[in-house]
Amino acid sequence: MKTVYVDNNATTRVDDAVLKVITPYFSDYYGNPSSMHSFGGQVGHDIRKAREKVAAIINADPEEIVFTSCGTESDNTAIMSVINSVPQKKHIIITRVEHPAVKNMGEYLTKKGIRLTSVPVDNMGRLDLDYLYDSLTDDTSVVSVMWANNETGVIFPVEEIAGMLKEKNVVFHTDAVQAIGKVPVDVKKINVDMLSLSGHKIHAPKGVGALYIRRGTRFSPFMVGGHQETGRRGGTENVASIIGLGKACELAKNHLEDENIKIKKLRDRLETEILKRIPESLVNGDINNRLPGTTNISFKYVEGEAILLMLNEYGICASSGSACTSGSLEPSHVLRAMGVPYTAVHGSIRFSLSRYNTEDDIEYIIERIPGIINRLRDMSPFNKE
Ligand code: PLP
Repeated sequence: MKTVYVDNNATTRVDDAVLKVITPYFSDYYGNPSSMHSFGGQVGHDIRKAREKVAAIINADPEEIVFTSCGTESDNTAIMSVINSVPQKKHIIITRVEHPAVKNMGEYLTKKGIRLTSVPVDNMGRLDLDYLYDSLTDDTSVVSVMWANNETGVIFPVEEIAGMLKEKNVVFHTDAVQAIGKVPVDVKKINVDMLSLSGHKIHAPKGVGALYIRRGTRFSPFMVGGHQETGRRGGTENVASIIGLGKACELAKNHLEDENIKIKKLRDRLETEILKRIPESLVNGDINNRLPGTTNISFKYVEGEAILLMLNEYGICASSGSACTSGSLEPSHVLRAMGVPYTAVHGSIRFSLSRYNTEDDIEYIIERIPGIINRLRDMSPFNKE
């Protein structure tokens, strides 16, 4: 059966060019980059090259990049670093729509005596900047706000927040896992202190990420061990994946504009046709300020999980805003924070596109989804008729 993969905010296919450059690191160049011999030393040199490429995609200096195992580790490291570096401060600020990598870390810290403020969003998923500003106190150590939301694609005013925090003695961390490769990110223009990114969202392998740490930012490592990453993250490097992350960043940087024009066109066609063909469907999030490849659509009176199962029967891979946790179907915390009504929050589906999607993929979905929704609505106890 045909597979139409439109779940790229969950993970992406490794780019063929990435796969090609990483393969030799499993068989030919398997040396340890920390070794004294040149067999390992060559690998260390290649990691340096990869670091330059990762730095380039955000216009950072290579020394400001620390490789990690994933976006989650980068987020956890950033927040814990501030907590450990300025232990006298006991307040942190995040948003109500952060990824669990930040949200659950914030909640965990409340059990350790940290006060947590979660800034609300409006019904379009836009951040309440006044609330953020008013929440700042002398006790605030870190503000962590995502660059773009993984569920709705809504882009946050990171530049404004950076400006707002400039005169304050507060570390600004941003989770840019969904933004990298999709929108321009320039840390020389936008004054973030720390920034997280992840390989598997940009066609690199799973299990590799990076944390940008602006020069001069106080840092306390999360992983303590050897001297790797100049003592900022112990543990033998995931060499092949780091090389892959470097290549993926190079590709994303070189093709950012043209690729995203194409992806946006496909996303817009998918969205427009769905809204046209399916009554009582609506887009969640600020449609004027979104990632180019993401659309989150609610189909009223149906369950997202049922839609996903039926899409799956046609080989269409998307995701729902709901997560099945401990046997109960919990609607997405992001959509709940946006106040999406009960009739719509359960029937939300996220379609997220990548460079590998084609017009045929979009037509394939458009032809099948109205029938799926009609069938489910006929069966639905929530159906308004
Ligand atoms: N932050 C955001 C916004 C994400 O979308 C994700 C993954 O979905 C993560 C963090 C976690 O990244 P990783 O899967 O690399 O741990």
